[in-house]
Amino acid sequence: MEAKKHLAGGVNSPVRAFKAVGGEPIFMERAAGPFLYDIQGKKYIDYCLSWGAILLGHAEKSVIRSIQSQAAKGTSFGTATEYETALAKEIKKAFPGMERIRFTSSGTEAVMSAVRLARGVTQRSRIVKFEGCYHGHSDSLLVKAGSGLATFGSPDSAGVPQGLAKLTTVLPYNDEKAFRNFFMKHGGETACVLVEPMAGNMGLIPAKKEFLSALKAWTRKKKSLLIFDEVISGFRVCYGGAQHLYGIEPDITILGKIIGGGLPVGAFGAQKKIMDALSPSGRVYQAGTLSGNPLAMAAGLSVLRMLSEELYEKLNQKSALFFEKAKFIFKNKGKMSLQSAGSMFTLFFNPRPPQNFREAARSDQKKFRKFFHHMLDLGVYVPPSAFETSFISAAHGEDEFKKTLKACEKF
Ligand SMILES: *Cc1c(COP(=O)(O)O)cnc(C)c1O
Repeated sequence: MEAKKHLAGGVNSPVRAFKAVGGEPIFMERAAGPFLYDIQGKKYIDYCLSWGAILLGHAEKSVIRSIQSQAAKGTSFGTATEYETALAKEIKKAFPGMERIRFTSSGTEAVMSAVRLARGVTQRSRIVKFEGCYHGHSDSLLVKAGSGLATFGSPDSAGVPQGLAKLTTVLPYNDEKAFRNFFMKHGGETACVLVEPMAGNMGLIPAKKEFLSALKAWTRKKKSLLIFDEVISGFRVCYGGAQHLYGIEPDITILGKIIGGGLPVGAFGAQKKIMDALSPSGRVYQAGTLSGNPLAMAAGLSVLRMLSEELYEKLNQKSALFFEKAKFIFKNKGKMSLQSAGSMFTLFFNPRPPQNFREAARSDQKKFRKFFHHMLDLGVYVPPSAFETSFISAAHGEDEFKKTLKACEKF
């Protein structure tokens, strides 16, 4: 293939190569509403939605209009603009805990910067993450649980120095006991605890409320910072993200995906006293040539301005109805289970919905591969890995659901 001659592995992000599902990756050419169209012109109902970045549907008219009108005024100035302030204000309506915000060009960057900020503020080096949670590809976070009582992590990618990985502890998700045991001993040396409060990167696994409450209580007690990575869940599960849903506010919030309206973006924010530690006011360095890029700000702003309680209510209601019908189809057939939250869902090839990474990892991947290609043939595109979350957009309707359910039934 031509792409393989010019791009590393033929792609710019590994999962797009279809390694987990086999076969040739498809090349998309355009998208509209709930649909993707490949270079052959074949149409797919899209449940990947750019990994959750698309909430209103592809090429939504007013989003495109604001990108176009912004582009005509220039695409990047490398100076302060009012667009950044406007988007920050809009985000704060939903996330009041983000008193001060900084924009980046990706979720990875936002997480990486937030971790540096936490280390700078607390003057501690160790950090905690949870198995199966993904926080982008910065060195400190490409770490898996090491052997021996889950204390020191080990690199999960070549090129990550052992010495750095050792500073990251990886604990099991949804296990407040394991967390407590670790944190009683090491909380005082831990800069921050990083978690996806609605895990979307091992398939969809909602956090148990007791788990998040324990993280909140113990980080406060040990003066460590709690970071919610809401790059997926923010503006997805409801207007105020998972922190609103659970009623638990973290010290630092990370956003991405939806807030860029399909353009590259990330953001992190916290109370003023924490964010003041960031340069130029403080001593924690962070920067970006295209950070707060006018096109991304314009796209994000036009999406966020269209959001309302009603929009989420409608989206979540039609999603729930679809999930109910899908569950009925898969009941007692082939040991599958569907787990959902709002407009997010994963069809697990496990008899029961998993609660953590180890359970998710038991999924029947061979069967998933068959399912993926079956759906693809019938014009339904789900994320090409058994450990991903699928999404529904505001543009998905009765017709799309019907077709999807029919394809499921056939399978
Ligand atoms: C996608 C994602 C990231 C990384 O964002 P990029 O924009 O891909 O760098 C970080 N955290 C979570 C929870 C994500 O889903």
